[in-house]
Amino acid sequence: MNKCIRGLEIITPLESFRDDIIISGGKIRKIGSEVCNEEIKIEKGKYVVPGLIDIHTHGMGGILVNDVKSVESYEKLTKYYYSHGVTTFIPSTISENVEKLISIAGILNEAKSIGIHLEGPILNPNRAGAHKFFTRFDERILEISKLFKIKRITVAPEILSDRELETLVDNFQVSLGHTDANSDDTRRAIGFGASSVTHLFNAMRPFHHRDPGIIGVSLTSPIYTEVIPDLVHVNEITINIISKLKGNNTILVSDSLQAAGLGEGEFLLYGEKIICNKACFEGNNKLVGSNITLDEGVRRVSKVVGLKEAIKYATYSPASLLNIDDIGQISRGYVADLVILDENLNVLMTLKSGSVVFSIFKK
Ligand SMILES: [Zn+2]
Repeated sequence: MNKCIRGLEIITPLESFRDDIIISGGKIRKIGSEVCNEEIKIEKGKYVVPGLIDIHTHGMGGILVNDVKSVESYEKLTKYYYSHGVTTFIPSTISENVEKLISIAGILNEAKSIGIHLEGPILNPNRAGAHKFFTRFDERILEISKLFKIKRITVAPEILSDRELETLVDNFQVSLGHTDANSDDTRRAIGFGASSVTHLFNAMRPFHHRDPGIIGVSLTSPIYTEVIPDLVHVNEITINIISKLKGNNTILVSDSLQAAGLGEGEFLLYGEKIICNKACFEGNNKLVGSNITLDEGVRRVSKVVGLKEAIKYATYSPASLLNIDDIGQISRGYVADLVILDENLNVLMTLKSGSVVFSIFKK
């Protein structure tokens, strides 16, 4: 039993060409034509790209990861991601006290989430952004790492000792963020194995030509850098700079709150009102988060860096950071996580392991 997607432009995303994709047993068996049992043909379909991978996202469709109370609610959330072409997402918590995080992690584990990203509470309160809970190193957080295949944690390295940093890197993929780290703090953390920087430029010590800090080190070392692609959190010229300097180590992340996918409106964060339009703001116009979905991020960033690069930064690059070697590319042997887009890059159909999990024709 095989399935095929015929005649679309395949963005692998390392190259692009027009051909057929043959799927069998949930995997990509071949790129090329073949007689097949089931043909997927979509009028208006133009591109087929790997399923998008969102490694930093707090929710969508009205559901905040911190508020997920049941397996059913997590499954509903997963479907929202599919409808935006995201086939792999790492549910990300906003900062909370450690007991609460342990309980959220328990539910995500029960719902068979592939991973977790803890954004906080080991953050620098001077670079808080929207987060409201802060602590220094807390050993209990290590319990969470045992529950998942992929475990990321965002920390401010300047508040951690060498030993604490080392312990965290032994248990998590460590990302640096919400931090006042200077160049030396950043180099020290990279030396201990920190692998990424959380939303580069946002909630960190700004770049200065005589004090380049975490931004200067990130842009000139091989570490991966997350970027929020709404063109509000960082200007398009800044995205261009990141893309030019970081290349394949650029990762688009939605960093979305539950407001994502719901248009403009008012929402609650930590029980307080926020207003979301182009992004999410507290009453005093302070930027507190994003409401973009990753497919929309790809659409916006593709106008800045080109289509192939934008797709790469939302598929190939995050898969490389996460060390998952069978997603993020369209190639023989890879899992058939695929998205079919129209000429304006709108999602028409999403396949997860070869099964259609979203289609605009089937609601
Ligand atoms: Zn975040």
